[in-house]
Amino acid sequence: MQKFEKIGAFGLTEPEVGSGAAGGLTVTCKKTPEGWILNGQKKWIGNATFADLVIIWARDLDDGEVKGFIVEKDNPGYSVEKIKGKMALRIVQNGLITLKDCLVTEENRLQNANSFKDTAKVLRMTRAGVAWMATGCARGAYESALDYTRKREQFGKPIASFQMIQGHLVEMLSNLTAMQTMVFRLSEMQDEGILKDEHASLAKVFCTLRTRDIVSRAREVMGGNGILLEYDVARFVADAEAIYSYEGTKEINSLIVGRSITGFSAFV
Ligand SMILES: Cc1cc2nc3c(=O)[nH]c(=O)nc-3n(C[C@H](O)[C@H](O)[C@H](O)COP(=O)(O)OP(=O)(O)OC[C@H]3O[C@@H](n4cnc5c(N)ncnc54)[C@H](O)[C@@H]3O)c2cc1C
Repeated sequence: MQKFEKIGAFGLTEPEVGSGAAGGLTVTCKKTPEGWILNGQKKWIGNATFADLVIIWARDLDDGEVKGFIVEKDNPGYSVEKIKGKMALRIVQNGLITLKDCLVTEENRLQNANSFKDTAKVLRMTRAGVAWMATGCARGAYESALDYTRKREQFGKPIASFQMIQGHLVEMLSNLTAMQTMVFRLSEMQDEGILKDEHASLAKVFCTLRTRDIVSRAREVMGGNGILLEYDVARFVADAEAIYSYEGTKEINSLIVGRSITGFSAFV
């Protein structure tokens, strides 16, 4: 995968278990003399329909801990169905994976993943990435809106010359600048090796919340054209919804930050 020769996917979420993955995974693994047997389903797994391999997180029936496995696409116990009818991130293929007595060798068990704490280390990195993704989505919407409002004329003038339109643009740019600054610092902290879960969660919450506001203003200043796909902003509006919910919802990431700043865990 590091050589970009194989495509991977990350299989954590399940049809009935999303936010509660830390304590509630129902996909199971069981050690046998032949290897590990995996059973259950994973939902929403990005790239799963064409990935060469998928990392499956499963609960060990013997010790109750979450373990990670490399499952290759030609494994006879593995099958995947494309999730249809998405209104957001339509370019990304998400899959519903079924594992039926799926046999995986001990060699394909992630040797350093021994509990959900190890899974969470991956989420720390991917959440930071989603904060960047939100920033890109917001920037695309802002730039499209700025361009449109400078060209679109009403009352004989570009709408960008109206005070209330400028108010929207400035609010968008203020939030965008704060987001860009935050994600830049996040990457610096990642490089310095000091990035913690709460930092990634804080950025994920802030950037995805602000993105929702920015894409909504972008759509607003474009009037009716804002809902047409050809002007791009409608796509950003839809994508912002998916980005807002995956890699931990606003609530779950807020609970991670809340626990860190108060010292009290409010997880149920
Ligand atoms: C486009 C897309 C791509 C994805 N890609 C992947 C992927 O590649 N791999 C993967 O493993 N998963 C993936 N996911 C799954 C994603 O991470 C989950 O959708 C997300 O974690 C939320 O889980 P859920 O959808 O089951 O919602 P639920 O957990 O059912 O949550 C529903 C609502 O209840 C709220 N809620 C839940 N618990 C609490 C609580 N304790 N307190 C307050 N509110 C709470 C949530 O915040 C949310 O608002 C993807 C999802 C999408 C939409």
